[in-house]
Amino acid sequence: MKITDILNTKRPALSFEIFPPKRSADTESALAAAAELAGLRPDFISVTCGAGGGGNTNTSLVAGHVQKSVTALAHLTCVSSSRGQVKTAAGELKTLGVENILALRGDIPEGGVLSSDYRYAADLARELKTFGFCVGGACYPEGHPEAETREADIDHIKLKVESGCEFLITQLFFDNNILYNFLYLLQSKGVGAPVIAGVMPITNAKQIKKMTTMCGAALTPKHKAIIDKFGHNPPALRQAGIAYATEQIVDLIANGVRGIHLYTMNRPDIARDIFSNISEMFPI
Ligand code: FAD
Repeated sequence: MKITDILNTKRPALSFEIFPPKRSADTESALAAAAELAGLRPDFISVTCGAGGGGNTNTSLVAGHVQKSVTALAHLTCVSSSRGQVKTAAGELKTLGVENILALRGDIPEGGVLSSDYRYAADLARELKTFGFCVGGACYPEGHPEAETREADIDHIKLKVESGCEFLITQLFFDNNILYNFLYLLQSKGVGAPVIAGVMPITNAKQIKKMTTMCGAALTPKHKAIIDKFGHNPPALRQAGIAYATEQIVDLIANGVRGIHLYTMNRPDIARDIFSNISEMFPI
């Protein structure tokens, strides 16, 4: 099913993000995580592509597997992708029945180069539309770290939507007011594509430091206090992180967001615990 059709009929939509294995030897555990998440009956599951700059490995394999039980959204990046490689990936995904692609510029690996065929996600989105995919794009409530100004970043998002992105998924954020302000700015610039809110539960102190450094999301004072207090007590941090994410999602749904996208980090146990707190808010 196309994600635009899901977003037109389901409010709010629920989706999960997983990453494919870097090594073929780890395929089984990634597929097991995908199967467990599919059991929670989300509206779709997205599969990253070389996030962190690791190359485009195994996305199609996992997305094809997901597509057998739940709508899959395969990520595809400009980084290291030639026009020929994109054509091959698009053909492969079509054969697997995958109808949705998230078009991304991609994390640039250290010492890596950008494709000369696609500079920005908008360029890739334009190309993917010609293959008939339902295409989405990324957006950044706090502004993309490389953007000169927040306003310029919103102009680029507008261009991305005009180039074919039919929905947007946000980078993780911890303060919902930042998202509400961002949605207002998008609306005032005439960007009408539905925005799905990306939520990441903080359940591991090390991981959150890495993620916030990479994507620039600001921690709230409440979050800092949670990490200070429970950073050395993993079971307590897990519980606090689940409670925080639950509260964040309840507020987002109460304020009418179009969808929630949970960054699961391939932890179905955490997704399950959060889902059990909010399941009635996602009518089937
Ligand atoms: P773009 O939309 O191309 O924007 C990149 C920068 O260029 C921005 O600063 C933007 O303002 C600027 N820009 C855009 N258009 C123009 C223009 N015409 N002129 C001048 N400047 C312009 N990374 C991965 O490697 N793999 C993944 O699977 C992955 N999944 C992600 C999923 C989500 C939901 C999100 C939010 C991010 C994901 N990322 C992933 C990270 C993303 O690739 C990086 O944040 C990357 O730095 C930007 O990607 P983008 O698609 O937003 O780029």
